[in-house]
Amino acid sequence: RASSVDVSTSPGKSVENVVIIGSGPAGYTAAIYAARANLKPVVFEGYQVGGVPGGQLMTTTEVENFPGFPDGITGPDLMDRMRRQAERWGAELFQEDVEAIDVKSRPFTVQSSERKVKCHTLIYATGATAKRLRLPREDEFWSRGISACAICDGASPLFKGQVLAVVGGGDTATEEAIYLTKYARHVHLLVRGDQMRASKAMQDRVFNNPNITVHFNTETVDVVSNKKGQMSGIFVRKVDSGEESVLEAKGLFYGIGHSPNSKLLEGQVELDESGYVLVEEGTAKTSSEGVFAAGDVQDHEWRQAITAAGSGCIAALSVERYLVSKD
Ligand code: FAD
Repeated sequence: RASSVDVSTSPGKSVENVVIIGSGPAGYTAAIYAARANLKPVVFEGYQVGGVPGGQLMTTTEVENFPGFPDGITGPDLMDRMRRQAERWGAELFQEDVEAIDVKSRPFTVQSSERKVKCHTLIYATGATAKRLRLPREDEFWSRGISACAICDGASPLFKGQVLAVVGGGDTATEEAIYLTKYARHVHLLVRGDQMRASKAMQDRVFNNPNITVHFNTETVDVVSNKKGQMSGIFVRKVDSGEESVLEAKGLFYGIGHSPNSKLLEGQVELDESGYVLVEEGTAKTSSEGVFAAGDVQDHEWRQAITAAGSGCIAALSVERYLVSKD
């Protein structure tokens, strides 16, 4: 347990200790730690994913790799447990999207659709969104054949031992393709251009892997299903010749990157060229004192629920230390 330092907001006090934005594993973990440290955190949960709080895991079925659940747990169930744990310790939760932030003047201001809150510190945990191809049947097969996370879904019974495809030509796609060969019978890598953007080392690993076939100049047009309504193939078109065909595959993995949800911080804290919030290595500190970032919005590499939760913990403990140092 973190040492509990009483820097709590007294009733009617107009400046909150900490506002947390986001209700994924990072936001809720930060909320649990901040609430247990008696900081009385205010959490804006947002409703951007599917109109419900809980973040990316609300869009998945089984989560098999979150420690503590040997039989797996559904994404929504896991997030509901985190939410209840945050509430139990006194976090104040608002199912509202934050529309504007001002961290240039102090105290900071956070403006949601319903209210304006002043705060001494901010934890930004708004996650990232996997880029989608927007195929005509994408929504129908999302999580039932189409996935954006090989580490999360590759070992699922839906994909194990099957022929799978990955779309994309960068490092993400090549990593996903190599990872999937652990479980799949064969992996097709669908690259729109006539070459890959992935590093030379990753390309070598792909070309040297007999279980991966690379298809250049290949546009992914849609997925096709069998009579039982299961995904059975991918409708592809050759960019150069226009030739169309169906590639047999039971799964399609998007490896076309993620967009960090960092728009509100633009121009206020340092972001990298892809929009990820830059934090001091090994910490949650952003370039603006008192502003901390956690989870996928500052992590383009690991992007897992457990790493997001871990960074949420670091952010909350950092807030506690920061407030004590300013006391
Ligand atoms: P997110 O979960 O993305 O949550 C961000 C939150 O911020 C959301 O609640 C959103 O509504 C909110 N938000 C955004 N903007 C605003 C705003 N302006 N105002 C208020 N709120 C806002 N990882 C695993 O470890 N195991 C798995 O099995 C697994 N399966 C996955 C399956 C799928 C389909 C996907 C997409 C991801 C999966 N992942 C899995 C990855 C995992 O979900 C993410 O790494 C994790 O959710 C990141 O947590 P986060 O808290 O950083 O952000």
